[in-house]
Amino acid sequence: MSERHPDWCYLARCTASEQSGAHRGQPAIVENVVLSLYSDAANPSVVLVEIRAGTGILAARVAYAVGRTLTALAKQANSGGAR
Ligand SMILES: [Zn+2]
Repeated sequence: MSERHPDWCYLARCTASEQSGAHRGQPAIVENVVLSLYSDAANPSVVLVEIRAGTGILAARVAYAVGRTLTALAKQANSGGAR
């Protein structure tokens, strides 16, 4: 593998190879919801937000925390991954 990783890439979660897989940022874990930056290896300049949730039903306090984290990640993604 000779690919370059974005500055925000968390190598322990990265599956990127030349044209497949994905870069993933360090995860923010809120209860059983995992949130992180994400980009396809084939198009690493497009920074997205990945959310993985074990259930779609959240306690209100968890929903607030997920919302705040999503907002922070969205801002970071919108600036190309810069903090
Ligand atoms: Zn990577």
